[in-house]
Amino acid sequence: MRPAQALIDLAALRHNYQLARQCSGGKALAVVKADAYGHGAVLCAQALQAEADGFAVACIEEALELRAAGITQPILLLEGFFEASELALIDQHQLWCVVHSLWQLDAIEQARLSRPLQVWLKLDSGMHRVGLFPEQYQAAYRRLQASGKVDKIVLMSHFARADELDCPRTEEQLAVFNAARDGLQAEVSLRNSPAILGWPQVPSDWVRPGIMLYGATPFEQAQTLAAQLKPVMTLQSKIIGVRELPAGEPVGYAARFVAERPTRVGVVAMGYADGYPRHAPTGTPVAVDGQLTRIIGRVSMDMLTVDLTDLPQTGLGSRVELWGAQVLASDVAAQAQTIPYQIFCNLRRVPRLYSGQ
Ligand SMILES: *Cc1c(COP(=O)(O)O)cnc(C)c1O
Repeated sequence: MRPAQALIDLAALRHNYQLARQCSGGKALAVVKADAYGHGAVLCAQALQAEADGFAVACIEEALELRAAGITQPILLLEGFFEASELALIDQHQLWCVVHSLWQLDAIEQARLSRPLQVWLKLDSGMHRVGLFPEQYQAAYRRLQASGKVDKIVLMSHFARADELDCPRTEEQLAVFNAARDGLQAEVSLRNSPAILGWPQVPSDWVRPGIMLYGATPFEQAQTLAAQLKPVMTLQSKIIGVRELPAGEPVGYAARFVAERPTRVGVVAMGYADGYPRHAPTGTPVAVDGQLTRIIGRVSMDMLTVDLTDLPQTGLGSRVELWGAQVLASDVAAQAQTIPYQIFCNLRRVPRLYSGQ
């Protein structure tokens, strides 16, 4: 059997969920969209079922997968519905629904529903992706209230730059939000992971932790609370080949690495077809039998190469951690000029093995 595997520690997931709750003091929707950022939505939701206030996903297909697996908690559709016809399933499965556009509001007014909906009314407070403009917000709220189709409305918005802890934009967005909701008596939801960890002054009846649940920091710099996160995924494999090369010999496609000294090269069963980032350059950290070393040469589809020159005890069959507790996914992502969100979502082909149920 090919030794590439992703170990998923569900106890760490629960730890991180509790940290999100403690940091915010509010109720927390565990964001399990995109197959729980590559960690497996059903098993992650089941592991959190006893404690989670609810879940959030990107679309109804993701919500129905959770319902089919027996998840009975609230599930929020973060973009609401994409077509009015989805309202029948939203009604049937009692899903919570973001409203970010006026056409969605029209559709709710015209829908035939068996019971009132719970709506999260989204304001564009400055990210300029989706959400109603501030000048539309109060009227939309009143229309929802008057529609007779809705029993509870949560006021929500999303920050564009909460991961930049010195940036004034988050406070500016908060001020826009507070002005737009002036006088409305309703719960609010603003904080995603960087805002939960880094912006304690932002109100938080409901928070929406995603990346932090999986134990990766949303920040580029060290941050005290983020340091308490526990990595959930360990991506690991083994050394399947070793060769000694004299100085001057190249390794791999395009000869991206040329040995600057006599070099002991380890070949690892892991490649970009597993989701390991192809753009991780020579120097990206990796651990072999618990010792840190570096990737060398170009990552190929099914294999990559590591420098074993200074690790003489390692060899064929040595365990390799591509990311996990020793090599942080956020560090690998930074080397590859991306973010841990993307490297987790890209995971494929490797079997996922769960512990800590
Ligand atoms: C994905 C998403 C989140 C979670 O964001 P993280 O940065 O992963 O915590 C929260 N809110 C909305 C609207 C989202 O789309």
